[in-house]
Amino acid sequence: MDSYPRIHQLSTSVINKIAAGEVIERPASVVKELLDNSVDALASRIEVEVVNGGSELIRIVDDGEGIHADDLLLAVTSHATSKITSAEDLFQVQTMGFRGEALASIAEVSHFRLRTRQADQTSGIELQVNVGEISPPQPCGCPVGTIIEVKNLFANTPVRRKFLKTKGTEFGHVSEQFLRTALAHPRLHFVLRHNNKIVYELPPAASLIDRLRVFYGNALAEKLIAVESEADGIRIWGFAAHPSESKSTRKGQYLFLNGRWIQDRSLQHALSEAYRGLVMVGRHPIAFLNLELSPELVDVNVHPQKSEVRFQNGQQLYRQLLSTLRSQFLSMELDTSFQVSGMQSNDSTIPNEKSPEQREMQMELATWAKDKLTPGASKFLSPDAYSVFASPETDEMVDLSTVDPQTASNYFPPTGPTFTKASAELASDETENTQPENQPASATGHYETGYSVMQALNSYLIAECADGVMIIDQHALHERILYEYLRNRILSDKVESQKLLVPETIELSAGEVAVLLDQRETLDQLGFEIEEFGKSTLLLTSYPVMLSKLDRTQLIRDILDQLQTPGQKPTRRDIMDELLHMMSCKAAIKAGQRLKPEEMQSLLAQRHLIDDAHHCPHGRPTAMTLSRNELDKQFGRLG
Ligand code: ADP
Ligand code: MG
Repeated sequence: MDSYPRIHQLSTSVINKIAAGEVIERPASVVKELLDNSVDALASRIEVEVVNGGSELIRIVDDGEGIHADDLLLAVTSHATSKITSAEDLFQVQTMGFRGEALASIAEVSHFRLRTRQADQTSGIELQVNVGEISPPQPCGCPVGTIIEVKNLFANTPVRRKFLKTKGTEFGHVSEQFLRTALAHPRLHFVLRHNNKIVYELPPAASLIDRLRVFYGNALAEKLIAVESEADGIRIWGFAAHPSESKSTRKGQYLFLNGRWIQDRSLQHALSEAYRGLVMVGRHPIAFLNLELSPELVDVNVHPQKSEVRFQNGQQLYRQLLSTLRSQFLSMELDTSFQVSGMQSNDSTIPNEKSPEQREMQMELATWAKDKLTPGASKFLSPDAYSVFASPETDEMVDLSTVDPQTASNYFPPTGPTFTKASAELASDETENTQPENQPASATGHYETGYSVMQALNSYLIAECADGVMIIDQHALHERILYEYLRNRILSDKVESQKLLVPETIELSAGEVAVLLDQRETLDQLGFEIEEFGKSTLLLTSYPVMLSKLDRTQLIRDILDQLQTPGQKPTRRDIMDELLHMMSCKAAIKAGQRLKPEEMQSLLAQRHLIDDAHHCPHGRPTAMTLSRNELDKQFGRLG
C-alpha cells in the first residue's frame, strides 16, 4: 500500500545536518573543532577571532601544514579524513580528530570559507561553502597554513540559532574551549580576540605551570602543588591546588588525556576522594591533571564531541589518581596553613573539638595512610594533621544580647519585620516539593524568651515544645531564617549594602566578566555593585552587609560558578533564588559552632517568623520532633 512510508537514502545535506546537530551545539563547538584541527595540523601559532559571541563570525588562523589542493573538497565531505584509514586505527588515535565530520557539519550550517596553503606551494587555494552549497575552489593569496571563517552560524537552522544565549554567555563558552586547548598545549602560541579586542595573548610557555600562571595569575599558581606518578605505563602529572583554594562547582577541574580535554565522572570522584576532609563538604578542589597512556588502552570514540572516553582499566586509573594525590598531600605539612572558609570553631578554649563526621573522615584517612605510606610520612598523621575544621579562630562570637541591632543583623535578622506572605512570590519550588511526607508534625510553637534549650554536638539545639522534644539543626534553621529575611528585603528593595572605600579589583577571564555583567541588575538587587574595569577585571564597589565576614573575591567567584552551572536557561527569578540560597548558606552559623545561650534563644525566637520552619532552603529539614507519645511508647509507658 502506497500510504506506508517507504525507506529511502537521506541526502548528503540531511546527513551533514544530523551530524551537525550532534557535534555543533553552539559557537564554542565550532571553535573547539577548528582548534582541534589546527593542533592536528601541527600549527605552532593559532589565532581565534570571534564577533558577537561567535554567532556572527568565527575565524581561525593557523600556521600548520595546510591542506593539499586536491584534497580541498574532501575536507568538507563527511567521513573524509586524513587521520585514520582502518577501523583498527580507531584504537591507535594520536590526533584530536578522526571522524572527518566536523568541517562538513560546520559548512552545512553556516557561510564557510577556507583558505589554505602548504609550504611547497607558491599560492593558496580557497573554498567557499554556503550552507552546504559548495562553490568550485579558487586560487588565492594566503600565508602557509590555514584560515577558516565561519559566518552566521545556524543561518539555515533558525531553531538552533534561537537557542543561542546572550553574546556574553556564548563568548564565555568560546573562551572556555579556548582555555581547554591552551592548557592542553602550553607550548603553542594562542591568541583570542572578541569584537576586535585581544582577550588573551598566550606566548609559547615552557611548561603547564607557566601557562597556568598567565591564565590564573600568581596567586593561584603559588597554591598549586605539583603531582606526578607513573605505573604500568600510565603517567599522571599536573597540578592540584592547595585545599585552601576551592570552588563551589567542579569548574576548576581540568583533566586531559593525551592532550585532549575530557570529562570523567570516575576520575572526578577520585579527585574529590583525595581531598576528602581537606575541603569542606560542598566545595570542590581545583586541579589540572594530565593522563598519558597508550592509545590502545582507551576508546575515544564513544561521545559525539569526544569529551568522554572509555578506559580499559578505569579502576586502576582511579586508584592511581587517588594515591598520587594523597601521597603528595600527606608528604606535605598542609595542616598549618589550612583556612577552610566558612568552617570555623569559635571557641579557642576547646581547640580540638570535632564533629563525629570530621572524626570519621580523619579516622578513615589515617587508616588509609597506614596501609599506604612510608614510615616517615606517618608523622603527619598525628591526630591533628587533618584537623582542618578545628583551626581555632579568634574571631569573637557576637553576643546578641549586648550588641546594637544594626550589628546584630549581620548574624540574625532583627525580630522586628513581619514576614508577610509577599515572600511567596519568590517561593522556591524546591522547598515545597521536597518536603518529605513522613516529616513528623511539630508545633510551630511560640518561644518565649527563657525557653529551656541546650546545644548538642555543637550542631543541634534540643528544646522542649508543646507536644514533646524538638531537635533543631542550627545551621539549617539559621539558613532558612536568613533566606526568608533576605527574600523579604529584596522584595521591599532594602538589602543593606555597604560601599567599599577602596573598591575591590577581581581578576577574571573576559568571559567571566561578561557573565557577571550580564547579571548586573540581579546582583545589584542582592547588594553587590560591580563595574567593568578593563577586559578581564571587575570592580566590586558594594557588597551586602550580611556577608561582610566572608572573602569577597571568593564570593564573587562562587556567584560566578553558580551562574555558569550548565542547565536549562535559568530565569532571572531562578538566578536570584540560587544566589539567595548561596548567600544565606554562607552567612548562616555553621554546624560545629558553639552557641551562647542568648544566641540559641534568638534562633528559637525567630523560628516562628519563617514560613516553612521545617526545611532549610535546600529542602533539608531544619527540625524533627519526638512527640510525647513516641517517647512514652519508646520507654514502655504506653501499651
Ligand atoms: P577530522 O579532523 O576528524 O579528520 P574534519 O572535518 O575536522 O575531520 O577535517 C577534515 C580534514 O581536513 C582533516 O582530516 C584534515 O586533513 C583537514 N584539515 C582540517 N582543518 C585543517 C587545518 N587547520 N589544517 C590542515 N588540515 C586541516
Ligand atoms: Mg577535526
